[in-house]
Amino acid sequence: MKLRIAIQKSGRLHEDSIKLLKECGIDINNGVNKLKTEATNFPLEVFFLRDDDIPQYVEDGVADLGIVGENVVLEKNRPLRTVEKLGFGKCRLAMAVPKSMEYSSIRDLQGQRIATSYPVIVNDFLRKLDIQAEIHEISGSVEIAPGIGLADAICDLVSSGSTLFMNGLKEVETVLRSEAVLVSNDKLSPGQQQLLAKLQFRIQAVKKAKNNKYVLLNAPNDKLPEIIGLLPGMKSPTVLPLAEEGWSSVHSVLNENDFWDIIENLKAAGAQGILVVPIEKMVV
Ligand code: ATP
Ligand code: MG
Repeated sequence: MKLRIAIQKSGRLHEDSIKLLKECGIDINNGVNKLKTEATNFPLEVFFLRDDDIPQYVEDGVADLGIVGENVVLEKNRPLRTVEKLGFGKCRLAMAVPKSMEYSSIRDLQGQRIATSYPVIVNDFLRKLDIQAEIHEISGSVEIAPGIGLADAICDLVSSGSTLFMNGLKEVETVLRSEAVLVSNDKLSPGQQQLLAKLQFRIQAVKKAKNNKYVLLNAPNDKLPEIIGLLPGMKSPTVLPLAEEGWSSVHSVLNENDFWDIIENLKAAGAQGILVVPIEKMVV
């Protein structure tokens, strides 16, 4: 009994996918140019594929699981279950037009030619807005299409926007926000579902750990109630006496979202020697 997972062979999701498995305590020998490999300490076989092929392989049951961008999942439109969002490979699918074009709303794309590698998603987006446009599907280097007269606008993946800028384009609409996801089919045996639950449990522990920091600080005892009041912690903070009379060491876990606010408040409340430490795994 084992699970077979398809991940990108090379490209933007490859390293983070392997890193995630490693952080889940799964060791794989990642030989160069291998098509597949076996984990040494978890019943998992890893297939290395082009990301475009992963939804199909998972749907057909050649692989049980896949790690792929939501953009690819939606474009391929296969009946897959999204098990978990993975927090990496973040990008957006965006419409962009030449900088010189006057653009005020999506209506300006009516009747225009749009080059994209995502015809299904773009068609769906435009149909919902009741815009008719001519979609030209091209598989790569979409950003050069307006420059060579192939299209009036493009719809492509963007993370920083520098590629658009370098090609004289400006981003005008966000069509989709995407990140890497773990997908599965509905063909898993009960035993495989148990293995998936085990894997998912580990992924969640890794994700939670990334969103949280372990904080240690020193506090004068008379300020303790105020300082403890600022800390959420998993249960409540740990308070230990320091060797120096009248002082305590306080340990707690902080979420990344309100991290800086709380640190500032702690300092203002009299905390000293604040240490912030990454957490490797977190199970709540
Ligand atoms: P493959 O050879 O596997 O087909 P690819 O060239 O289609 O690879 P990559 O460019 O490696 O794909 O991107 C893989 C995924 O990474 C994208 O589908 C998307 O989900 C995500 N991604 C994150 N940031 C970006 C970005 N700036 N541009 C493109 N993709 C991005
Ligand atoms: Mg691809």
